Amino acid sequence: MSHKSRPDSGFTCIHCGRMVAAQAYGTSHRNHCPCCLWSRHLDDEPGDRRCPCRSPMAPIAIEVRADGEWAIIHRCTGCDTLHTNRIAGDDRELALLALVLRPLANPAFPLDCFGADR
Ligand SMILES: [Zn+2]
Ligand SMILES: [Zn+2]
Repeated sequence: MSHKSRPDSGFTCIHCGRMVAAQAYGTSHRNHCPCCLWSRHLDDEPGDRRCPCRSPMAPIAIEVRADGEWAIIHRCTGCDTLHTNRIAGDDRELALLALVLRPLANPAFPLDCFGADR
């Protein structure tokens, strides 16, 4: 499988294989798949395409900014770099919610510590 990227004409999602258009509502340079939210480590600075890493970047969390805007935190599976990316207008809401709920569905501590007699 090859993953050629053509910066201005969209890209093929490295995770789910979907064709993703570069232009999207709410963002000038889309860098993640609206379906599974995975990205690729292509940029040192947003949009510069100068990073040689090119490993897939997994969506790991949602950040809510002071103005209420949501951003996706991506972690590179190759070098562990963290990037924060604004969500795009056509990102799949269910995929975003799954990201929000993941830590709640999989807590790092036993839930029976709530309300139990201790
Ligand atoms: Zn995808
Ligand atoms: Zn990387």
